Amino acid sequence: MPAVDVDGLTFTYPSGPRPAVRDLRFRIDHGEVFGFLGPNGAGKSTTQKLLIGLLRGYTGTISALGRDLADWGTDYYEQIGVSFEIPNHYLRLTGLENLSYFRALYRGKTRRPEALLEMVGLADDGGRFVSEYSKGMKTRLGVARALLNDPRLVFLDEPTMGLDPVSGRRIRSLIREMKQTGRTVFLTTHDMTVADELCDRVAFIVNGEIGIIESPNKLKLAHGARKVAVEHTNDGIPGRSEFPLDGIGANADFLALLREVKIHTIHSQEATLEDVFIHVTGRSLH
Ligand code: ADP
Ligand code: MG
Repeated sequence: MPAVDVDGLTFTYPSGPRPAVRDLRFRIDHGEVFGFLGPNGAGKSTTQKLLIGLLRGYTGTISALGRDLADWGTDYYEQIGVSFEIPNHYLRLTGLENLSYFRALYRGKTRRPEALLEMVGLADDGGRFVSEYSKGMKTRLGVARALLNDPRLVFLDEPTMGLDPVSGRRIRSLIREMKQTGRTVFLTTHDMTVADELCDRVAFIVNGEIGIIESPNKLKLAHGARKVAVEHTNDGIPGRSEFPLDGIGANADFLALLREVKIHTIHSQEATLEDVFIHVTGRSLH
């Protein structure tokens, strides 16, 4: 049984002229990091809000952790962790106070707020008011909060948005650690590096509809050229040569080049995830 099973999910905001998401169909396996990749307004946050039971009045079915969402009571929130795109912290409390407050809402076992702050790189900022936090710090506090109850299923909405490179790397390694400890992660992002690096499978979403669901590697291989490009200099003259990837080990020209010239780079020419996104959806991610 998958961790999340969504079938025919359609939702229209009361004020919306047309569905924000339409006929979504996907399954997330236990222990999988599943990415929702799409440009602004595609329906990523809406999908997350539906999956966590925040938006009602959808059609289709959502089941999570073996039960239809409609049959889950508030005990669902004991099992899952959620970080929001726009974090809703108490600004007049400190980071540590925020975590302690939310920690007290859980009946089950929880993790130490100090340890969580450390994990997201806020160990030295726990005593500061959240009103003084930067956007990236608030995002990181949101990720820490999502992990308070040691959830089996984690929803992260744009967890690396607005982060500096160091904090971004920290959050990415935290997500990798979640996977290593067997957690299931639903991750929305419009950052294709994050999707590429972390996700077992990604769903491309545009205008509320899923275009394709596949592993980043398969997508890149399927859409790239099976070629190797070599940059080199020969007697000080720069050059670039391409060879077919198939049969490369027996390609006499390629082997001669390796022996005879100074090699600078060798790259296989698979597509980037962003190339694939544009190719499949006809839309850019930004
Ligand atoms: P994403 O997270 O991919 O950027 P959203 O799920 O936030 O996209 O938005 C999907 C669509 O739903 C957009 O067209 C957006 O304008 C619309 N939308 C989002 N929130 C609301 C709301 N509260 N009321 C009406 N429309 C909304
Ligand atoms: Mg969003």
